[in-house]
Amino acid sequence: MGKIIVCGAGIGGMVTAIYLAHKGNDVEIHEMNDAPGGKMSELTKDGFRFDMGPSLITMPDVFKEFFSDLGRNMNDYFELTPLECSTKYFWSDGVVFNSYTDPSMLSKELTEVFGETERDNFFRYLDYGKLFYDLSEEGFLKDEFKIKNFMTIDGLKNITKFISGRSLNDVSNKFFKNDKLKQLMDRYATFNGSSPYLAPQLFSIIPYVEHSFGAFYVKGGIYEIARSLERLCKEFNIDIHYGNKVTGFETGSNKIRKIFTESKDGKSGEVKDFDTVISNFTNSTELCGEDYFKNEDWSSSAFILFLGMDKIFSELSHHNILFSNDYENEFLDIFEKKIPPDDMTVYISISQKDEITDAPEGCENWFVLVNVPALKDNDVWSNELKNNYKNKIIDKIDTFDFMTGESIRDHIKVCEIFTPDDFLSRYNSEHGSIYGLSSNSMYSLMRRPKNKSSKYDNLFFTGGNTNPGGGVPLCFLSGKIVAKLIS
Ligand SMILES: Cc1cc2nc3c(=O)[nH]c(=O)nc-3n(C[C@H](O)[C@H](O)[C@H](O)COP(=O)(O)OP(=O)(O)OC[C@H]3O[C@@H](n4cnc5c(N)ncnc54)[C@H](O)[C@@H]3O)c2cc1C
Repeated sequence: MGKIIVCGAGIGGMVTAIYLAHKGNDVEIHEMNDAPGGKMSELTKDGFRFDMGPSLITMPDVFKEFFSDLGRNMNDYFELTPLECSTKYFWSDGVVFNSYTDPSMLSKELTEVFGETERDNFFRYLDYGKLFYDLSEEGFLKDEFKIKNFMTIDGLKNITKFISGRSLNDVSNKFFKNDKLKQLMDRYATFNGSSPYLAPQLFSIIPYVEHSFGAFYVKGGIYEIARSLERLCKEFNIDIHYGNKVTGFETGSNKIRKIFTESKDGKSGEVKDFDTVISNFTNSTELCGEDYFKNEDWSSSAFILFLGMDKIFSELSHHNILFSNDYENEFLDIFEKKIPPDDMTVYISISQKDEITDAPEGCENWFVLVNVPALKDNDVWSNELKNNYKNKIIDKIDTFDFMTGESIRDHIKVCEIFTPDDFLSRYNSEHGSIYGLSSNSMYSLMRRPKNKSSKYDNLFFTGGNTNPGGGVPLCFLSGKIVAKLIS
């Protein structure tokens, strides 16, 4: 096979490139930024280190399988560290729940906080999630998504389960009486930028995956994964052309013929004489077609504060959730009204809890994330809006003073803000969303750009905005699926 060009050095782009180079293909990558990883990125400031994107890793076997496919051992590249508590949940009335990864500790915590019946219901819910996981694994997690995969007697029975019309919140209502436990399980819809009131019951696989396969941190920081992929690219002689933005394409006879690029210093270039193009981004009318951009249900984006704190907050864990008081209204704001929620759920990840060097002594690195809508066409997060929303979030955190002991405001020594505009300019993701099209409908699987383009014979898509979906392990699976399709 002739040369293969990968556009974008995000996780999906690099994994696909590595699989193809491992098979003996000549592969090169063009990446608009100066570093690998895309949304898996890193920020360092005044002695604090922050992972800017993913903070929690699941499905460890996906990573092990990738390295074993290459005849290598994952531990020679990065080390997955299991977390004892995947997330610590806080409600404003003082209720706290530790989601332990060890089943017996989890069972005890469930009994203490929610009672025996709800504990049993929790484990029944996970069994329900397993049913969907097993169906998804065959249907689309490890293979290209095709309706034809479901055209068997069993497949047809299964697809009716997929498109039953039941939302993730309907599943919580079916299993639980306790509103806090419902809210906790509903939160998993946000893992792919969706609303639990709209996202299909299929996503009950997410809590199943977390509780069955474990929750992990990466020693040295999540960004070690991106660094390891860059290292593998070097080992397989894949050139990554950094600072080289893909700006357009020449097409003919249903094929991409030429790729136009622009370097950071404004120099135009073109890439030609290739067989195959793999795009790690989907924010292109040329590649994805106009109909794709007529969609309006983009996945959520995020408003992120990177806070360097000059204090150790001992009540907090590595991953923490401070719930809003009205979850339904929060998602109405994000997906119907398309405004940043007034009463927001706040996620705080503090990698320093496991990686002491991520902050100066006696300090903590807080990654504070609030789900907000993707950008409407002309939205801009002005400095005034950013500051107001930052203050609103800090006020919200301060209402949990039973957790922090005092106002956090005076302990902030470093503060950087990242908004949906930054997602758009830095990662070129549709409307600044995190996962492209939302998964608020079962049909979104069909409306996402397919791994093999239906428009051009030599074009493929990889990564979180295509199939099987968003999240680091799924990007690895996406890379494997695409490499298999091409090979
Ligand atoms: C805040 C946040 C939190 C997250 N939390 C988690 C988590 O806890 N666990 C988890 O598993 N996942 C999480 N995710 C999701 C996960 O990070 C993504 O799904 C995954 O990293 C996306 O990888 P990708 O392959 O789709 O590529 P992307 O990261 O989208 O990268 C695409 C690449 O293409 C490049 N590019 C775009 N346009 C061009 C162009 N025109 N020319 C050249 N290059 C271009 C971009 O610069 C980028 O490098 C999170 C994401 C974010 C943003």
